[in-house]
Amino acid sequence: MPETDISNIEEQQLFGHPKGLFYLFFAELWERFSFYGMRALLTLYMVNVIFEALAERDIAAAAVYASYGSLVYASTVIGGRISDSILGKRRSIFLGGILMAIGHFVLAIEHDLTFYAALAFIVVGNGFFKPNISTFVGELYQDGDPRKDSGFSIFYMGINIGAFAAPLLCAWLGNTYGWHYGFGLAGIGMLIGLIFFWDGIRKNVFGNKGYAPSKEVLDKKVIGVKQSILIPILAVASVPVIAFLLSSYKQVFEEGEFMGGLNIVGIIFNILAVLIFSYIAYIMYNSTVDERKKIFVAVLITVFMSMFWGFHELSGSVITLFAARNVNLLVVDAAGTNALNAMFVILLSIPMSMLWTYLTKKKINPRTPYKFALGLIFAGISFFVLSMSKDSADANGMVPFSFLLIMYFLISVGEMLMSPIGLSKITDLSPKRIVSFMMGIWFLSSAFAFQLVGFIGKKLAIESTDKNVGGFETLSVYTDGFLMISKYALGAGIIVLLLSPIIKRLMGNVH
Ligand code: GLN
Repeated sequence: MPETDISNIEEQQLFGHPKGLFYLFFAELWERFSFYGMRALLTLYMVNVIFEALAERDIAAAAVYASYGSLVYASTVIGGRISDSILGKRRSIFLGGILMAIGHFVLAIEHDLTFYAALAFIVVGNGFFKPNISTFVGELYQDGDPRKDSGFSIFYMGINIGAFAAPLLCAWLGNTYGWHYGFGLAGIGMLIGLIFFWDGIRKNVFGNKGYAPSKEVLDKKVIGVKQSILIPILAVASVPVIAFLLSSYKQVFEEGEFMGGLNIVGIIFNILAVLIFSYIAYIMYNSTVDERKKIFVAVLITVFMSMFWGFHELSGSVITLFAARNVNLLVVDAAGTNALNAMFVILLSIPMSMLWTYLTKKKINPRTPYKFALGLIFAGISFFVLSMSKDSADANGMVPFSFLLIMYFLISVGEMLMSPIGLSKITDLSPKRIVSFMMGIWFLSSAFAFQLVGFIGKKLAIESTDKNVGGFETLSVYTDGFLMISKYALGAGIIVLLLSPIIKRLMGNVH
């Protein structure tokens, strides 16, 4: 792979965007297909297979789901950093994609021992793949290019097409033929994603973008091994460590005595967060005043995003279980309900981007912090609606599907107000030299979020070994929890709204 290429990507355009965008679109579509296909099955698989015999299986599943989610997004900080300083985006994306595909295939083996190793491969793989493909999108555009926001919206659409199709297909395969077919399909999805990316490289649609900073840095030897080889070796070597971390909660749990407070990933994660924030403080110290303000805002919007994901990512755990135990499902099964969020995001993408264009023309397009405040408020309303479903339960304690649909619609509106906009703003607010790292920090918001998801998951856990537990036995545990969540989300939204005038001033020329 050459490390320099002088061709000009400006010449290669498609539908008014750099051609490379569409290759990244399809690569990410399939990567997310694998990610969300697996995620839709994960909680149900843990509750019904891995922890089947435990009365506290919901708690164990919530703990592992939280640790997996935290690590799968926290690893993006490291992957982003290594890409910026050593590997470059192209190599990082390949490395990450291969590791993720291995993870999904190992998961398809369906064994307690390989289970954690599989999750660990996905954790490491996502760390290299996700932040780098996202910053690659930003890099296709010149600074200040007005097409960048819409480029990200198109990219976000790809994410959600994958996230929509996968839960339906993987859940169907999983239900009809067995879990491992569902997980296997996820692995195939990831390989297809890599083929798209490789095809883009072969056709040279990325021009001179995405290479390592220099050939020297790749060839530089550390402990006698070139860095370009050492990093993949270290990445694989970290898998057993992460697998151990993911399973540590279970071990503590299974020793008879339930030690709910001891969660190694939680502790490590908090220490890591302190280190990362210290590092950001160090970067800010070495930046100009303008850069410093922008980095500060980037961190702030990341924190707000984190709260939002903390409620949103419940879809793969508590809400999937609620769907299985308390909702009269139509058309889809419980795992398949994971497709609803993505479906609404796809449906909303075009109207929302038209709305932004219209509001920009009228010069009344609200600035980022206001959109973030509104996003959190929508999350609050969405959970409020879900909590209201209790009053419409039938004689078996099952609520109408429409409540889940409305909830997903509202939270998807919230997501559209925050996630694609934040993604684009991060690349605007971050100085070039640290943009992949900052993208890692952006994904760290999801990592933090999963700690919240774990906390809520444990609070709303049902103790039972009965596969058919549900109805009135579980209904109010969930709906009372949803009411609580809605209050927190609304409160957070109002706080952000109050802070918005200050934040927008700090953002300077970034909208
Ligand atoms: N749905 C988006 C994606 O998969 C964002 C997920 C997240 O950051 N929690 O990229």
